[in-house]
Amino acid sequence: MATAGKVIKCRAAVAWEPNVPLMMEEIEVAPPQEGEIRIKVVATGVCHTDLYHPFEVKDKRGFPTVLGHEGAGVVESVGPGVNDFKPGDKVIPLFLSQCGECKFCKSPNTNLCDCSWSSKYHDIMSDPTTRFTCRGQPILQFMGTSTFSEYTVINQIAVAKIADDAPLDRVCLLSCGISTGYGAAVNTAGVTPGSVCAVFGLGAVGLAAVMGCKNAGASRIFAVDINEKKFEKAKVFGATDFLNPKAYDKPISEVLAELTNGGVDFSLECVGNTEVMRTALESCVKGWGVSVLVGWTDVKDFSAKPIQLISGKTWKGSLFGGFKSKDSVPNLVCNYMNGKIKLDKMSLEQVNDAINLMKTGDCIRCILNISK
Ligand code: NAD
Ligand code: ZN
Repeated sequence: MATAGKVIKCRAAVAWEPNVPLMMEEIEVAPPQEGEIRIKVVATGVCHTDLYHPFEVKDKRGFPTVLGHEGAGVVESVGPGVNDFKPGDKVIPLFLSQCGECKFCKSPNTNLCDCSWSSKYHDIMSDPTTRFTCRGQPILQFMGTSTFSEYTVINQIAVAKIADDAPLDRVCLLSCGISTGYGAAVNTAGVTPGSVCAVFGLGAVGLAAVMGCKNAGASRIFAVDINEKKFEKAKVFGATDFLNPKAYDKPISEVLAELTNGGVDFSLECVGNTEVMRTALESCVKGWGVSVLVGWTDVKDFSAKPIQLISGKTWKGSLFGGFKSKDSVPNLVCNYMNGKIKLDKMSLEQVNDAINLMKTGDCIRCILNISK
């Protein structure tokens, strides 16, 4: 490759500070160092977490940054010590790494690799070690990935090699939203055949949770969202009942309890709202109900009455659907190719438009074709 070992100048959408539109800039991407891989990003989804950081947290730390963590691309070059990847390989960047060496990677009970940026720099959502500069300034790499750039550099522990025939503009969704929601249902909640489930929030994460409930054999799946435009898609993914909390003058947990003779077996919060987290727990049946937090928020505490847990319910959380990332993503790609996992496509090219569409709920997932 003519570019190997050299600095690459390319375009990226830079978030200079919180709450201002992203700017298309020319950035410099340094060559990969020991154990790193430089990737030409081909497609990226826009996940709610990309909005959360600049528009909801409003913390100046973590800026300037290049957002984006739901991408797919092709290896451009590799640094010293990288033996499992070569230029031309199709890959998916992982916001959650799998080093294979730490005590968490060695445990079958968790996917939380200790070498991930998130175990050290959770509060700024970036690893301060970056290969990006723009106008003479270092630019941070959001979630260790930064897929709103034509090129990015990622440690090999946070990259999965996938099938050569995988369509990158679809499987990029397996880099975050779809794996997260799907795994939260099948792995973390452990949805059982014949069970009754409720999914709160029907973005890509919630719809994938609906799909996970369906594939795990749930007999009834309540899809809950304040935006009724989402119900049609939820039906496609397997939801059987549809509830808009705004349409009732009592809490939706009471409505669910009445409709299900005491509450659902499994509930999944896919909004990122602490009130909804509480409601999802309260919507579970006593004795064995399991509620999973999937939505991402760190700005507020949550609360619940202790009796909710004393009565035998379980409250859990899920990061990246509980999947060990490097091992699982190639299999998830295969599951997409054999039709078990459905991925939706909507293509757009302006990052700020995609963000507005997500804010208004007018699309499920926008996928940007970065390479065009
Ligand atoms: P999204 O914005 O596309 O979807 C959120 C949905 O929630 C929308 O349909 C919205 O109408 C609905 N909603 C908003 N308020 C509601 C309420 N009070 N009751 C019911 N529904 C409500 O978001 P997304 O990309 O699907 O992500 C969902 C959440 O998952 C976000 O918080 C995101 O940060 C988080 N996330 C977590 C992980 C993880 O590993 N745990 C990974 C990716 C994303
Ligand atoms: Zn690890």
